[in-house]
Amino acid sequence: MLCHKCPAIEGRSSGEWKLYTINGRDYVTVENVIRFYELRHNSILAGAARTESPAAKGLRLLSSDTREVYLSGVRHWLCFPTEEFNGKTMISRMDLVKTIEPVLRPHLIKGLEWFNTVVIDAGHGGHDRGAKSRFGFEKEYTLDTARRLKIVLEAAEFKTVMTRNSDVFIALDRRAAVANRLDKAIFVSIHFNEGAGNSAASGIEVFAITPRGAPSTADSSLKPSHLNPLPGNRTDAASVMLAASVHRALLANRGQIDRGVKRARFTVLATCQKPAILVEGGFLSNPSEARMIATTAYRSALARSIAKGILDFRELTLGKAPNASSGETADTEPVVMTKPRPVTSQKPTLIVTPPGE
Ligand SMILES: [Zn+2]
Repeated sequence: MLCHKCPAIEGRSSGEWKLYTINGRDYVTVENVIRFYELRHNSILAGAARTESPAAKGLRLLSSDTREVYLSGVRHWLCFPTEEFNGKTMISRMDLVKTIEPVLRPHLIKGLEWFNTVVIDAGHGGHDRGAKSRFGFEKEYTLDTARRLKIVLEAAEFKTVMTRNSDVFIALDRRAAVANRLDKAIFVSIHFNEGAGNSAASGIEVFAITPRGAPSTADSSLKPSHLNPLPGNRTDAASVMLAASVHRALLANRGQIDRGVKRARFTVLATCQKPAILVEGGFLSNPSEARMIATTAYRSALARSIAKGILDFRELTLGKAPNASSGETADTEPVVMTKPRPVTSQKPTLIVTPPGE
């Protein structure tokens, strides 16, 4: 169904946005995004340097047909590749609403709530050992990192709840259920990666739930099942911002390869109704990363960085803390945005025909 805010007619304007429809999917031009958010630069640079100052509020595409974008210095994977149309580079409305808007204006995320509890999920456990290196198993490293994160967070006066604190198997759906039972909580799952036969694969990636109606980063096309709503979609804007915040902190730490903020429908993310992320803290299948992950120094640094990202994310919610007076709220609120927000409800298109198919 069409409404005045979401025209599906080519080139139709809606406030400050002009939407184009390509093969049934809505797009906006990169220029429009740059103008709306008053971004500093719009350079489209093939093979651009993979680091950028976080202070640079900007948008950078790595090529003109890409799912990779840098938003204020953090690499994100778009739901859909950018498109060239009438000589202009286009970004899907889905990505505008579900990635660009929450990351560039996190203070406007609907339902973003202050929290004081972090549910820490050490991936795997018991008979489920996860990935392995010649030094140890993923389940051991996730538990050790989770314990370190617990200590750092408690020192910062967070409450923490571990989904496991010993070498036991916990079913995936029971992990997010721990966070769902709590008030004022977020969920952070810790894992280490495996390169599926590629020992060269390396680096850090952080996952947030895939928006409804979009393919996950690992999918090349949209499937009918992607249209199903998931409990995790209730907080997908907050989750992608939490992912961006933690990812930024992780990369600032050691200069590791930036694999970006990705999207997936992992069970723990799909079933969690609180802001939730899954951190992949390096590759056990990569010999040099495996050696690094086996050190307590690395796992401590990883825990500190995750905690830093969580603290940065909570900054965004401080005006909503129970003890914040109205005066404090006003002080912590960013500049009032006078511009209209982009369309906030993304209604997935039912006819899925990516260009070129
Ligand atoms: Zn894992």
